[in-house]
Amino acid sequence: MMNFTTHPFDAGDDDRFHEECGVFGVFGAQNAAALTALGLHALQHRGQEAAGICAFDGTQFSTERHVGLVDDNFTKPSVIARLPGDRAIGHNRYSTTGGAGIRNIQPLFAEFAGGGFAVAHNGNLTNAMTLQKELQRRGSIFQSTSDTETILHLIATSSRGPLVDRVIDALHRIEGAYSLVCISEKKLIGCRDPLGIRPLVLGDINGATVVASETCALDIIGARFVREVEPGEMVVITEDGIESLRPFGAQGSQRSRFCIFEYVYFARPDSVHKGTSVYNVRKRIGAELAREMPVDADVVVPVPDSGVPSAIGFAEASGIPFDLGIIRNHYVGRTFIEPSDSIRNMGVKLKHNANRAVIAGKRVVLVDDSIVRGTTSLKIVQMVRDAGAREVHMRIASPPTTDSCFYGVDTPEKGKLLASRMSIAEMANYINVDSLSFLSIDGLYRAVGEARRNNEMPQYCDACFTGDYPTVLTDRNGNSNVRQLSLLSDVS
Ligand code: SF4
Repeated sequence: MMNFTTHPFDAGDDDRFHEECGVFGVFGAQNAAALTALGLHALQHRGQEAAGICAFDGTQFSTERHVGLVDDNFTKPSVIARLPGDRAIGHNRYSTTGGAGIRNIQPLFAEFAGGGFAVAHNGNLTNAMTLQKELQRRGSIFQSTSDTETILHLIATSSRGPLVDRVIDALHRIEGAYSLVCISEKKLIGCRDPLGIRPLVLGDINGATVVASETCALDIIGARFVREVEPGEMVVITEDGIESLRPFGAQGSQRSRFCIFEYVYFARPDSVHKGTSVYNVRKRIGAELAREMPVDADVVVPVPDSGVPSAIGFAEASGIPFDLGIIRNHYVGRTFIEPSDSIRNMGVKLKHNANRAVIAGKRVVLVDDSIVRGTTSLKIVQMVRDAGAREVHMRIASPPTTDSCFYGVDTPEKGKLLASRMSIAEMANYINVDSLSFLSIDGLYRAVGEARRNNEMPQYCDACFTGDYPTVLTDRNGNSNVRQLSLLSDVS
């Protein structure tokens, strides 16, 4: 049996932040489930533990939820044939809140008094535990340990009448980060939390409407990008068209705190967020890094794959040649579904190997996206030294990662983050480099197109670099206010 806690893609790689989910939905396309499977395939990087699709054919809802990759489970015609209908939603999962297990695989489906309803969620509800206890006291019986199920119970127990009003009622109860896609018998609904922490975009394919976590999921099916779902916006798609609702008033979009780490690492480089190419941002990050933290060296080497665009930007700005001094084995882990301890202890060598021809005798600048626990950096630096590097200088394409994420990203607790317990000099000593430098927070903001970070009202969520956690609390009248997450008592 597959070891669910160590997916093949992640073998030997517990030293990254992991995006927790990707969502996709389509309304009005005859092959909705097949399009959804393709969309989930493009969003595979956002979650590899499990995938699911729920479709509606005008009469009944059909759901397939499986552990494993999209390719493993949704390429068979027989599976797609079990998902008939012109509307469907899908979800890729990388578990943290609620843990692994079939019952937590999304979309989650419920039969309400007014008909069936399915939901898929990217994000993390910071008050889910409080809400769950309250709902359980009132008689709700939870089928999963996922925070997403809380949304279903809030909708089911809402005193409002029409479905959309019940969903809005639920949104006013939940806090934290969410990009949701939902289907009912008549509607596809997409919505983002008032801060727009996690992404969600709208597309169009031959008159059918698509919602997806990233634009790369539109590209794979040939859909046209229409626009982003705005922070705090709910789009309701029916046979009559698209209706845009603002459950939190107009404030939501003005207080956008989109996750800046999407640009650094999570998003696919061919995606576009907030009108800006992720690839171009990463190149600009590398250029900023070269200007802020220059170094005399012979070759710029990316830690593949996520360090590649920033290393290109660093090389262009510094004039130091770029070369592939570390080669990644893209098939790692597919062979080692349940690695033995001895194989796991090989760690990073399963995935990376130093390219001696590029490195030997050189002063090397290694460019990586971030340092989390530091274990991977330590091994990679040693590998580069073993391959004959004369000097190793590490340049990191983000500020030091000092704090955990509570918004739908799997991160180690703060005490396990190297930058939370060591100075930069200590980190350099620990990973055994000749020099170590990080991009400044303002450098990161410049790379995404801002002049600098607005410390009074930051333009992005950057809490894992600053400890400045945003969240929105919304009262029953729809008034929202931004507060520090640390004020909340039940952070999950
Ligand atoms: Fe993104 Fe970091 Fe904020 Fe989490 S804490 S949403 S990873 S910027």
